[in-house]
Amino acid sequence: MSADLLNIEDQLSEEERLIRDTVRAFTADKVQPHIAEWFEAGTMPREIIPELGKLGLLGMHLTGYGCAGLGPVAYGVACRELEACDSGLRSAASVQGSLAMYPIWKYGSDSQKDEWLPRMATGEAIGCFGLTEPDHGSDPAGMRTAARRDGSDWVLSGSKMWITNGSVADIAVVWASTDDGIRGFLVPRGAPGFTTRDIHQKMSLRASITSELVFDDVRLPADAILPGVTGLKGPLSCLTEARFGILWGVTGAARSCLESAVEYARTREQFGKPIGAFQLTQGKLAWMASSLYQAQLLALHLGRLKESGGLSPVQVSIGKMSNVRTAIDIAREARTILGASGVTLEYPPIRHANNLEAVLTYEGTEEIHTLAVGQALTGISAYR
Ligand SMILES: Cc1cc2nc3c(=O)[nH]c(=O)nc-3n(C[C@H](O)[C@H](O)[C@H](O)COP(=O)(O)OP(=O)(O)OC[C@H]3O[C@@H](n4cnc5c(N)ncnc54)[C@H](O)[C@@H]3O)c2cc1C
Repeated sequence: MSADLLNIEDQLSEEERLIRDTVRAFTADKVQPHIAEWFEAGTMPREIIPELGKLGLLGMHLTGYGCAGLGPVAYGVACRELEACDSGLRSAASVQGSLAMYPIWKYGSDSQKDEWLPRMATGEAIGCFGLTEPDHGSDPAGMRTAARRDGSDWVLSGSKMWITNGSVADIAVVWASTDDGIRGFLVPRGAPGFTTRDIHQKMSLRASITSELVFDDVRLPADAILPGVTGLKGPLSCLTEARFGILWGVTGAARSCLESAVEYARTREQFGKPIGAFQLTQGKLAWMASSLYQAQLLALHLGRLKESGGLSPVQVSIGKMSNVRTAIDIAREARTILGASGVTLEYPPIRHANNLEAVLTYEGTEEIHTLAVGQALTGISAYR
């Protein structure tokens, strides 16, 4: 563990520390030994998701239906420890809990909740979240995927792109335009006309499955629609939940990079002494550590705010844009300290650095969050 020079961990409750230690032990035992291999192979075994379920990490911030009902900081700490291992692992938990379970929990009917949430909490059923389309990423309001009424049924057509866990999901939460505005639909795997295709050759988040979803006149029953929300606020509210996990998670990736760099600096010798004895190396480490502490404090502050009454989307934007950028800077600096070893998968910094490129872009790009903060400061929207 890297030195916690500001004693930030002391601010966690006993329960939060227990979650930290449990998740850390799990990743050390079950994931860390294999992660470089999975990253290289471009896969994440599906079996990991039920393992996360056994630990109570899936939908852990939700109540009822077998969910742990834990507070925001506990959820954040779990995301942090998962992402200290790999952003792909944290993404799996985030997508399941915040993007697939949360909309069912918040906007679903009782029968939708009863059918899906208990099985999703254990990881027996996997969910995905389909908002982005090939031609509509940052601007989902223009989505082409549409659902039209046919008698009491719905008929869904269109496609979604870049969908985490798309091809392994048992249930897809799909956002589509209707005559009433944007609505969410639950589309089970195997529905006639629903196909998936994995996206290959990613250089980031390789230990995570990313897919395209195609809907070719998929007929859905009337009760496939999420009854509780209409409009873009539905998917955006899910993203606000998930982004909160990201702003915590990336501090784990950054911490892992710092630890790796400190360890390397203490043991690697050049010019007759450890490279950690050179002032340039110490300067890098000192700046990495102080940037990490600032990111950790921001995450903790936002977590306690969320606990005491909720966070506004712009507060989450500040956390996401700032902490992802900090984590990227730390990962790149760590990589330099490792020299040539820093470009191999034997050490984590290059894997984290590459992963963080996707994290910078997904769930609202850095630019879009910057514009949200700019709008909050000036009262002027610069989106269009
Ligand atoms: C690995 C991975 C997993 C993902 N998982 C999911 C998932 O599970 N579900 C899902 O729905 N989506 C997912 N996404 C998609 C992700 O959310 C989108 O990639 C993201 O919203 C950006 O959309 P885009 O890629 O189409 O970029 P674009 O929107 O085309 O943006 C391209 C560039 O233009 C900039 N830009 C756009 N508009 C403006 C503006 N008004 N002002 C200034 N700059 C602007 C952007 O910031 C960016 O730099 C995933 C993406 C990746 C890479």
